[in-house]
Amino acid sequence: MKDYGIDIWSADNFIIKNGKVCVNYGKKPALIDIVKALRDDGYKGPLLLRFPHLIQKQIQRIYTKFERAKKEFDYKGSFNAVYPLKVNQYPGFVKHLVQFGKDYNYGLEAGSKAELLLAMAYNNEKAPITVNGFKDRELINMGFIAKEMGHNITLTIEGLNELESIIDIAKQRFKPKPNIGLRVRLHSAGVGIWAKSGGINSKFGLTSTELIEAVNLLKKNDLLDFFTMIHFHLGSQITEIHPLKKALIEVGNIYTELRKMGAKNLKAINLGGGLAVEYSQSKDEKSRHYTLSEYANDMVFLLKSIAEQKKDLEPDIFIESGRFVAAHHAVLIAPVLELFSHEYTENKLNLKEKNPKLIDELYDLYKSINSENALEYMHDSTDHLQSILTLFDLGYVDLQDRSNCEILVHLIIKKATKLLGEAPHSPDLLALQDEVQERYLINFSLFQSMPDFWGLEQGFPIMPLTHLDKKPTLSANIWDITCDSDGEISYSKDNPLILHDINLEEENYFLGFFLIGAYQEVLGMKHNLFVHPTEATIHIDDKDYEIKDIIESQSILDILDDLDYDVHLIMDILNEKIANSNLINEKQKKQILGELYLFLNDNGYLKTVDV
Ligand SMILES: *Cc1c(COP(=O)(O)O)cnc(C)c1O
Repeated sequence: MKDYGIDIWSADNFIIKNGKVCVNYGKKPALIDIVKALRDDGYKGPLLLRFPHLIQKQIQRIYTKFERAKKEFDYKGSFNAVYPLKVNQYPGFVKHLVQFGKDYNYGLEAGSKAELLLAMAYNNEKAPITVNGFKDRELINMGFIAKEMGHNITLTIEGLNELESIIDIAKQRFKPKPNIGLRVRLHSAGVGIWAKSGGINSKFGLTSTELIEAVNLLKKNDLLDFFTMIHFHLGSQITEIHPLKKALIEVGNIYTELRKMGAKNLKAINLGGGLAVEYSQSKDEKSRHYTLSEYANDMVFLLKSIAEQKKDLEPDIFIESGRFVAAHHAVLIAPVLELFSHEYTENKLNLKEKNPKLIDELYDLYKSINSENALEYMHDSTDHLQSILTLFDLGYVDLQDRSNCEILVHLIIKKATKLLGEAPHSPDLLALQDEVQERYLINFSLFQSMPDFWGLEQGFPIMPLTHLDKKPTLSANIWDITCDSDGEISYSKDNPLILHDINLEEENYFLGFFLIGAYQEVLGMKHNLFVHPTEATIHIDDKDYEIKDIIESQSILDILDDLDYDVHLIMDILNEKIANSNLINEKQKKQILGELYLFLNDNGYLKTVDV
């Protein structure tokens, strides 16, 4: 049976039990049961499920591994972490994160005014806040206000102009002052599709010359005591450990140099984010080549070595991992609406009294196919298809013949893949799979729910929630419901997604899209006006599970309101058009007004009836 690489990407968070995907926690509920409960309550579109225990697990893992590394190397600096809000700012995530983070003094990182305000409102008391990104005077003022409110805040500056603003504002405001961090522009760069944040040509950070200038400026303005942290961030999803180690050696030495220049309160190094997540469904294509323990051990060990070598203080460590903390907690579940080849059924065949020879041959192939000749017949049938298409273009066969041919070829291939099912997949069969892929139409928007696939071809683990005790037979392509041909996840024969052949009139079939908790929600686009799906939070314990905080996907009226349409005007126009229609009578007008009202107040995803 196929396990869709669940042992590779799921980090033991999900398991297969009795042919179903189950949450590997507490009572271990099957995802399909949770989905059924929600669908029975009327939530028929795509569902985004949040699992708070997975947020807790990731936070716990980070602190445990770093505390262990500190113990192992007898490290004297402290370990601290902040969560970068940009990775997921949705309340259904952030509120749990802050709650679980309390015991660890886990803080928040903000990169904009809105994020800083969120941090000022929700951050645990005394837990650190760091502020990165470009800052104007207003944002810097907000940072001072956060400090004046009692927050433990560090403003990390990205350029000397920001430092000049801080110096200026410090003179005007009250006594408390935020700590100041400097972002360092390293020569080291990351690897992978998100590596642009690091390296000497990156968008962010101070060069060596600017660092010296910054320290001198701080000294001159009596603010050097507030300079406490240096920061770097190589980029997200750093797939290898060596760039991180190289960057750390660079930044460790910068740290001791700056302390030598008199920055005696510089005690912290902030390693940024970048800790990678394993997204791969195949053993051959790992997307992360190190473990969390290795990361923690390497970082602690290297900083210890540098401090010893330079006879300096072992720095406090800060990290800003976001993806690693958020990715696991959310799963998107979407119903399959249609399998396209299901239009090719035997009862749709309409053979003539006298068919072209190739069609008769195809029919014979279909009737006499068996496990011995399946591969050969499959090849023959695809050859015949090509010939018929050529004959059609030349005018020798008609549309009826062409339709019969398409149906027969599909039926043959389907029969053949079933017959060959248990045999080892031959290269021939795999080669054919590209041609005979089944298109699964799924009730979701790729642009909304997996924008990184659209923009960067970042893959996410995908698998069916049920039927896992049955052999899947169809090589699949995933189509979303947007009217955009980019709304497709295509698979090649080298990396196929094999799904089950389902008769949707007899049974339901749902796909789970995993590891979508980081970045996807807020990057999601409203293409075709498909918006954030209905979400629900699933609390699990040993006895049961509970579905809480259901937030239904926005109604059509709200979506239009967000685009700044005057929804009252829209209602008025629709009312008027119905009133003026002379195609229907008054009673019918009343009825369709009621119907329209319901549609406008419902969400925009498709609805299917469960069987
Ligand atoms: C985006 C970002 C992070 C988070 O990176 P992840 O790869 O998600 O861990 C951390 N720090 C800074 C400065 C960032 O811009």
